[in-house]
Amino acid sequence: MYHPDVLDLKERWSSPSACPALVLNADYTPLSYYPLSLWSWQDAIKAAFLERVDIVAQYDREIRSPSFSMRLPSVVALRQYVKPSTHPAFTRFNLFLRDRFSCQYCGCKEDLTFDHVVPRAYGGRTTWINVTTACAPCNLRKGGRTPAEAHMIPRQRPFQPTSHHLRENGRAFPPHHCHATWRDYLYWDAELEA
Ligand SMILES: [Zn+2]
Repeated sequence: MYHPDVLDLKERWSSPSACPALVLNADYTPLSYYPLSLWSWQDAIKAAFLERVDIVAQYDREIRSPSFSMRLPSVVALRQYVKPSTHPAFTRFNLFLRDRFSCQYCGCKEDLTFDHVVPRAYGGRTTWINVTTACAPCNLRKGGRTPAEAHMIPRQRPFQPTSHHLRENGRAFPPHHCHATWRDYLYWDAELEA
């Protein structure tokens, strides 16, 4: 049905592969801020034809076949609201996002790993409330000691985040590329100006 090969691919930034669609929930908020919820133009068009999404905004870019033409969607919204899970999964990514990708001992943002605040040798468990983001040097320096023994207290006491909390933190990470039509649906202006 579609003939992407008829597209003019000379302009790199206007090639369809560089035209992802921002995916909004049915309430017109992004499904995810970080990583930003994006679909390829193929997935966005497929979902539109299956009537799973409404097209909210479009690129100037068109796809054409002999009998059909359509502007590529730049923003789509799900027709059915997806309820975010209240308690996000305990994953490395979500842990870093809770801690805003910064070491909770020195504040640096490089070479991140995670640290058991109460070491495993002392019975510390691998849970939201005992694991924190640490850079490799701090992790090494603290070693198998408690915060009191190492005189290293995490800036933020580890806690179980809600999905809302992770979304709020995700807003602090604007994407490298942001199409003009996405801006109305993303709310990180405060952080950008900070
Ligand atoms: Zn550190």
